[in-house]
Amino acid sequence: RPRVVMTVRSSSTTLSAVPILTKLQRDCATPLPVLRHVADAMAADMRAGLEADGGSDLKMILSYVDALPTGNEKGLFYALDLGGTNFRVLRVQLGGKDERVVATEFEQVCIPHELMFGTSEELFDFIASGLANFAQKEGGKFNLPQGRTRELGFTFSFPVKQTSIDSGILIKWTKGFAVSGTAGKDVVVCLNEAMKRQELNMRVSALVNDTVGTLAGARYWDDDVMVAVILGTGTNACYVERVDAIPKLHSPNSTSGRTIVNTEWGAFSSGLPLTEFDREMDAESINPGEQIFEKTISGMYLGEIVRRVLIRMAEDARLFGDSVPEKLQMSFSLRTPDICAMQQDCSRDFEIVGSILYNVAGVNSNSSARKIVIDVCDAIAKRGGRLAGAGIVGILQKMEEDSKGTVFGNRTVVAMDGGLYEHYPQYRRYLQDAVTELLGPEISKNIVIEHSKDGSGIGAALLAATNSMYGH
Ligand code: BGC
Ligand code: MG
Repeated sequence: RPRVVMTVRSSSTTLSAVPILTKLQRDCATPLPVLRHVADAMAADMRAGLEADGGSDLKMILSYVDALPTGNEKGLFYALDLGGTNFRVLRVQLGGKDERVVATEFEQVCIPHELMFGTSEELFDFIASGLANFAQKEGGKFNLPQGRTRELGFTFSFPVKQTSIDSGILIKWTKGFAVSGTAGKDVVVCLNEAMKRQELNMRVSALVNDTVGTLAGARYWDDDVMVAVILGTGTNACYVERVDAIPKLHSPNSTSGRTIVNTEWGAFSSGLPLTEFDREMDAESINPGEQIFEKTISGMYLGEIVRRVLIRMAEDARLFGDSVPEKLQMSFSLRTPDICAMQQDCSRDFEIVGSILYNVAGVNSNSSARKIVIDVCDAIAKRGGRLAGAGIVGILQKMEEDSKGTVFGNRTVVAMDGGLYEHYPQYRRYLQDAVTELLGPEISKNIVIEHSKDGSGIGAALLAATNSMYGH
């Protein structure tokens, strides 16, 4: 990106954007009482969702994963990860307790935009053909005993009503997907049919949400992992629950007495500090009224919220001069990586901000306008990070209430993944600060919030191993 941008010298025009900024900061504020309310409401909604299906914003989906990886898993397994922006295929040779991961290999493919709006067959054909290509290149350190069927852990990062460990019905698409003909269907059947069309002989041994894969992957290395959170394009959390704390589970047959619950917290909505910009974005989205927590804190939306604020400032306060930049008027033209990059600018005249605004939005700006833009980014990232932190505390609180002392009193690890968490340092700091504020210094010492990079792929392969048709 060229660094030289034209500087418009008229700081008087930007002054009137200040009241809009001040109001935004007020509407977005997340003081301790707001965080506490969100944490409490999250815990209460979790309980309601565990009581009965449909009893809460939170679906509290049973994952049918009740045996977590132990380290003893052995053999060659595949994983397929269909998430927000790309899909990934992976193979891993597991060597058991001492050798652990002997070899691993993966490929990542960007999902063509039009497939997000196409038919179910088109999407699954694309995935299965990527998988078939990848499977063909097996060799080297990867070794499948003669006559064995390849087994696959399928990470599917959308809300699925699981019917067993290897089947589940798509409830709805999220994160901008609008593929026709999948909702209401078993996604494993969809994948199996597509694999058949590719003449690929592979069996789905485990269907898992990305949070569940992340928890399993992190747990493989660390027994204290109890919660996993994704903060990427979308957001969600899962945790280890006691089966006797799940009233809607009528015939618990978990030998461990525990199971992973996928909260689908993206649908949470209680007591959030929302602004007019959030309401407008939601109303114009492809899923109005849904995924409100996700729309407030996750990567798909933060840039878009900022863009909407900037448009208002351009229209009502001439933030960028006489006209409202045309490029900036396009929905989702400002992305979360852009606002993140702008927040890293420490130069005196905010030259990086200037060049991003110029390149991405076609905007000429002076330094006082750029400063206001940074403050807008900060307000939105701060709210997102702090609310995510409050959500995590809500989950921990629920677990603590049920198991007096074992969560807050011991080392408890929250495994985190997703591009937003990984790449946005301010967001990450705001999240951690909120957790510390809510729990206090003593308890916070026991709560380890830790990045578990790409754990969901290995995690899904591990769960395929745990549920292998050949035993383990
Ligand atoms: C989906 C979840 C997923 C999360 C993170 C959300 O939109 O509903 O199932 O775990 O995104 O990828
Ligand atoms: Mg993902």
